[in-house]
Amino acid sequence: MDFSLTDEERAVRDTVRSFIRREVMPLEAEVLRRERAHQPGLDHSEVRELQLKARKFGFWGLATPEEYGGMNLPAVLQSLIWTELGHTFVPFRFGGEADNILFHATEEQKQEFLIPTIEGERRSCFAITEPGAGSDAANIRLSARRDGDDWILDGEKTFITGGHDADFAIVVAVTDREKGARNGGATAFLVDRSMGWRSEFIQTMGEGGPASLIFDGVRVPHRNILGEIGQGFTLGMEWIGKGRYTIPSHAIGIAERVLQMAIDYANTRETFGAKIGTNQAIQWMIADSETELEAARWLVLRSAWTVDQGLDPRHASSMGKLYGAGMVNRVVDRVLQIHGGMGYTRELPIERWYRQVRLYRIFEGTDEMQRLIISRDLLRGYTKIGGHLA
Ligand SMILES: Cc1cc2nc3c(=O)[nH]c(=O)nc-3n(C[C@H](O)[C@H](O)[C@H](O)COP(=O)(O)OP(=O)(O)OC[C@H]3O[C@@H](n4cnc5c(N)ncnc54)[C@H](O)[C@@H]3O)c2cc1C
Repeated sequence: MDFSLTDEERAVRDTVRSFIRREVMPLEAEVLRRERAHQPGLDHSEVRELQLKARKFGFWGLATPEEYGGMNLPAVLQSLIWTELGHTFVPFRFGGEADNILFHATEEQKQEFLIPTIEGERRSCFAITEPGAGSDAANIRLSARRDGDDWILDGEKTFITGGHDADFAIVVAVTDREKGARNGGATAFLVDRSMGWRSEFIQTMGEGGPASLIFDGVRVPHRNILGEIGQGFTLGMEWIGKGRYTIPSHAIGIAERVLQMAIDYANTRETFGAKIGTNQAIQWMIADSETELEAARWLVLRSAWTVDQGLDPRHASSMGKLYGAGMVNRVVDRVLQIHGGMGYTRELPIERWYRQVRLYRIFEGTDEMQRLIISRDLLRGYTKIGGHLA
């Protein structure tokens, strides 16, 4: 058994690490200042400028196939990169990416939606959740009714990331109520904002926020169906599947950064004539955090490795998402505690991370849904305990 990274993995990670340290972290003070003034941390042109700088180092389209100018990196490498991105709260992502399911587009759709998204000229959002259907995504109601060469969309989506800025939405709609969404009754549509949907921004406890999308008789041409009629639910699950290892990979990076802050603070802050790090109460919080962080690292790297092996990653990635999201919440909470009153202030970014990571237990499958998947796999015998080592 070999737990070390390959030379290539280490080289890629180190290049990303130095890019983040040199180009992104110096923006942290300004990002905090703007967010405190209720402005976006970075505007789109600033993110784009950074993305183009990263492109010069070859970092463009981590998950994008080479034929579209991307790097098509293995999932393990992508996971390592997401961890590096987690070291800063500056809202930066590498460019050259598109929603994984957009690669199911037809040639014509690729020109109109996929390529401009990869190039950063158009912004997308993915919409399955509705006011009455989140965890129970098969219960969606937004309907698409055939009318000649068009479809008419009616209904509402909610909590859609990027929904207030997007130029187009990938919308999963009910096309056959009898069949039900899970059994071929849902279809994905590529819907330009210019076709008539509108968005309403939703305030959250985090910075930025998702949006509700309202479809009131929106007419969409038949050629804008993504994939096949009836394939919408499967595409939706494919889209969500991607986040099952990228979200906890990001969580690991956040936990690494804040834990180091706690260690530095414990080694400098004095009470009762001694460094607070000399107290067992503080030492145990540091020890528990490091242990959980390491456990999350291997769960998540194994789930990414499972993807690279072409195996079904569902069980492993549900465990990684469940544990990684919980771990980062516990670690940030302890780090805030170690910082005492300072941890609670807005002079430090800890309270910002505290608010940010709360989402990780909710979106792209709540903790409870991950537990449902993990236990169902075992109860129905799809997976055996430790079966991956058989
Ligand atoms: C900031 C943000 C961004 C998001 N981005 C997107 C996006 O881009 N696109 C998109 O389509 N959606 C998005 N979502 C939606 C997100 O995926 C849902 O919020 C999530 O799946 C939970 O659904 P819900 O909020 O309807 O909660 P519900 O499904 O109503 O669940 C409420 C609670 O009950 C629990 N629960 C539900 N069913 C069971 C059960 N059977 N057993 C035990 N517990 C259960 C849940 O775990 C949860 O704790 C986003 C949400 C947020 C907050």
